[in-house]
Amino acid sequence: MKQMIRNIDSIKSEIQKACTKVRRDPSEVKLLAVSKTFSVETIKAAYAAGQRLFGENRVQELCQKASLLPPDIEWHLIGTLQRNKVKDVVGKVALIHSVDSLPLAQEINKQALKRNLSVNILLQVNIAEEESKHGFALEEIAAKVKAMCQLPGIKIRGLMTIAPFTENPEEVRLVFRQLKMLAESLEKMRLPEVQMQELSMGMSGDFGVAVEEGATLVRIGSRIFGTRDM
Ligand SMILES: *Cc1c(COP(=O)(O)O)cnc(C)c1O
Repeated sequence: MKQMIRNIDSIKSEIQKACTKVRRDPSEVKLLAVSKTFSVETIKAAYAAGQRLFGENRVQELCQKASLLPPDIEWHLIGTLQRNKVKDVVGKVALIHSVDSLPLAQEINKQALKRNLSVNILLQVNIAEEESKHGFALEEIAAKVKAMCQLPGIKIRGLMTIAPFTENPEEVRLVFRQLKMLAESLEKMRLPEVQMQELSMGMSGDFGVAVEEGATLVRIGSRIFGTRDM
């Protein structure tokens, strides 16, 4: 518990440092605590320390935990979402970071309209074109956004990327910079209900660089909670 609070504090001070370096306002950067695989008790401890934004990568785990934890937690889905799971998650999450296809966006739209809601989403972009990773390709995204902005049940709030794993975060600086540039170019298209206000980028190993390049949401698991077994 004490260690976790120290971890959160040190992450926040690194975010602050990165912001100072590039003259950003630190209040523009939100810390998403990635609690996947960690217990409800562990999440309660982080909650007691003041943390309110939590990210999970699986729908079932998210729903289970959400049902056992205080309602003022803001849940974010960050993992690959299968179309048949969309109905379970709509209405329960503040933001879906991992929308990676038009059919998925259409299904979210359909389930949202059934419930009279609109769902905030980010579009996951595979900037580094890694075969193992999901996400839109750079070349296709403008056309896909044009199609998705017609869907009244979704609100596109920005972009998300997962940088390639590296020991040296400087090596992925360009990935983050490209995501920011892409967001700026999509913003210039001035499409209805498309706002590029959020950039979800940066994890335990690379969030400092991501913040320097414009991240507004950093997704951090192991630096807060320790290493995961799975
Ligand atoms: C697990 C996960 C994270 C957090 O990773 P850490 O390296 O533990 O900080 C961030 N984003 C996504 C999409 C993840 O699945």
